[in-house]
Amino acid sequence: MTPEEFRQHGHEVVDWIADYWGRIGEFPVRSQVSPGDVRAALPPSPPEQGEPFAAIMADLDRVVLPGTTHWQHPGFFGYFPANTSGPSVLGDLLSAGLGVQGMSWVTSPAATEVEQHVMDWLAELLDLPASFRSTGTGGGVVQDSSSGANLIALLAALHRVSRGATLRQGVRPDEYTVYVSAQTHSSMEKAARIAGLGTDAIRVVEVDAELAMSPRALAARIERDVARGFVPVLVCATVGTTSTTAIDPLAELGPICQRYGVWLHVDAAYAGVAAVAPELRPLQAGVEWADSYTTDAHKWLLTGFDATLFWVADRAALTGALAILPEYLRNAATDAGAVVDYRDWQIELGRRFRALKLWFVVRWYGAEGLRAHVREHVALAQELAGWAEADERFDVAAPHPLSLVCLRPCWARGVDADVATMTLLERLNDGGEVFLTHTTVDGAAVLRVAIGAPATTRGHVERLWTLLREGHDWLANDFEE
Ligand code: PLP
Repeated sequence: MTPEEFRQHGHEVVDWIADYWGRIGEFPVRSQVSPGDVRAALPPSPPEQGEPFAAIMADLDRVVLPGTTHWQHPGFFGYFPANTSGPSVLGDLLSAGLGVQGMSWVTSPAATEVEQHVMDWLAELLDLPASFRSTGTGGGVVQDSSSGANLIALLAALHRVSRGATLRQGVRPDEYTVYVSAQTHSSMEKAARIAGLGTDAIRVVEVDAELAMSPRALAARIERDVARGFVPVLVCATVGTTSTTAIDPLAELGPICQRYGVWLHVDAAYAGVAAVAPELRPLQAGVEWADSYTTDAHKWLLTGFDATLFWVADRAALTGALAILPEYLRNAATDAGAVVDYRDWQIELGRRFRALKLWFVVRWYGAEGLRAHVREHVALAQELAGWAEADERFDVAAPHPLSLVCLRPCWARGVDADVATMTLLERLNDGGEVFLTHTTVDGAAVLRVAIGAPATTRGHVERLWTLLREGHDWLANDFEE
């Protein structure tokens, strides 16, 4: 493709995206294809000759769109959101166009320095501890996912607690322990597996009535493990759990971690970005105790996947665990110790210029725009929770400090509540106007309403509330007959 052809088709692609966003509300939120439908629409073998661009674009409409669940749809209330935005897409496009590898400072200095700078800006915007800034002992880096961030936090913690021994000898069986709660994201267990600790190393600490990790239970677990000769490595505290956005009490967990020399990792994958709004920062009071912290701009901060914001308070622990310098990567800047080489802050060697889209997003919206985005969803969620609390057909099943509301539909005695709730969920999702997911609270199925798609307005939440009540009434009649 020549630059001129690229210009022409690039305009077509941008037009296509703008049109898609303009009419996104017309699509059923959840794709309605059956397994295998998408592949059945594709030729079995790749084309022998190149095809016209128009033919490829036509198949985008014919094959891809019907098989797409529309995460940017204003009726998308499932999982957690996966925001994208104009400035994010354009920044990503430029990153793709530049096509640089930012693995070392020398391989593209701007990729490293813009990233350092944007991560410092974001630390300031979220009011994170000074130690997380590049000017302090730590620093920030863009990772692919919070799952990946949880893994490298564990590797850094192992490196620190073993004083480098795990680098040389790996981990010995039955030596190290990791502390989570039953509400911690599954990626932490996966991290323990990948790090070679095995799932036996994981201690599941009890939670309180609000599903937050109990500091007293944590201290008791750690004490017992230390007494039996285990070495506690890391506590994973969550700010905004995946199931219900429960918040582990960092201010109480932090001193316990410090007392026992345990690494405190804060997984704030969804909720962390809410700290752009000063009034929401008390939710993560005690964040200054954290040794590392992850939050996803690609969930709720208007930045397309992937854009995980990861900070450490002591960058030496992280680079100590991950740095490796083969001869073919040697260069004067690295040898002089004058630069950050981000390959030493991540698992992969190669890395995209992901900071570019973050830089565009922060500059386009500004701090005020980002705050307004988060505040709007939090306000809508509080309103929805209020409607549900005032309606006898629904209970609010868990605290809702941010923009996720867990609703438990109430059913007549004798009705299997879980079956009825899941039937209601399927009915709503089949309808195509909205999409929700579920979880369990106290063993019972509940509906999760995560408000966070950029296009969602109060009108869409009102419509969801109408559909919820109509669906409930319809099913309640059905189940009672
Ligand atoms: N941690 C928490 C608390 C999450 O809620 C999630 C995803 O929802 C993750 C980690 C995983 O995030 P990612 O998709 O960035 O790996």
